[in-house]
Amino acid sequence: MDGRAVAAKVRARVAEGVRPFGRLGLATILVGEDPASQTYIRLKHSAAGEVGIEPTDIRLPEDVSQANVLERIEELNADDAVDGILVQTPLPTQLDAGVLQAAVDPQKDVDGLHPVNVGLLHLGRPALVPATPLGVMELLGEYDVRLAGARAVVVGRSDIVGRPVAALLTHANATVTVCHSRTRDLRAHTLHADILVVAVGVAALVAPDMVKNGATVIDVGTNRTEGGLVGDVDPGVSEVAGLLTPVPGGVGPMTIACLLENTVRAARLRRGEVALPAI
Ligand code: NAP
Repeated sequence: MDGRAVAAKVRARVAEGVRPFGRLGLATILVGEDPASQTYIRLKHSAAGEVGIEPTDIRLPEDVSQANVLERIEELNADDAVDGILVQTPLPTQLDAGVLQAAVDPQKDVDGLHPVNVGLLHLGRPALVPATPLGVMELLGEYDVRLAGARAVVVGRSDIVGRPVAALLTHANATVTVCHSRTRDLRAHTLHADILVVAVGVAALVAPDMVKNGATVIDVGTNRTEGGLVGDVDPGVSEVAGLLTPVPGGVGPMTIACLLENTVRAARLRRGEVALPAI
């Protein structure tokens, strides 16, 4: 599955979506010097600029206090030129990611991690949903993968990928199994999956003998190794799977494109063009 090509389509859609607004604003908060986080922020900003979304780049020192970060979030919440706010993770230990996420205005929460947005997703009334799961669903849609009635197995249950992707697949009427580090006999589950989504962070965790013939396999993992960037799925799985996302060039570009699309959605939500579903 060609994530770069599908992401280009999404970005074109985003550029169309931005046009009626003239310009939109996406603010990112990056704490510390983590090189991978710096790369992600750079990629997000350059992709934003290309579709008419003005990035605001807030950099804070590694030892910044929680009160200071909360203050910056409040300023961004109050700033009418800011449509989306993103707090880049991982964060240093003195900061509580959950508290910071909950401080972001839910209508500007382009990472979809505010408890209101998490709750709405699990109630089946999604407002703003994390970008990576949206990217996974977009890929499945683009390649006409049948979801209703399919057996889907999600490996990983993080707030940012595993849980929300499982919720979206459930809403799409797949029958979903969620596996994690305490799952006994992972292969017994993965082998029955029509759709297998892997978001763990362990290189080559999923071997070819763990995958059903013809299955659709979405590899979310990004692991930096001496040989370069690799996923959680052994490349040999391409011999067995019907469809497989490469790493790089699969889910990664989709995440950035869907983050930009969330910024348009956030702008519409805040202007009342899309209603935030009542609880
Ligand atoms: P995370 O928060 O570390 O969660 C990892 C999940 O994997 C946890 O639920 C953990 O189980 C489970 N797990 C760990 N070892 C396992 C094993 N041996 N068997 C089965 N499950 C196991 O990670 P994340 O943020 O979801 O990210 C996962 C991967 O996706 C990482 O490589 C990350 O870099 C990548 N990622 C890529 C993108 C992208 O755009 N391409 C976006 C986000 C993340 P427990 O819950 O039991 O601990």
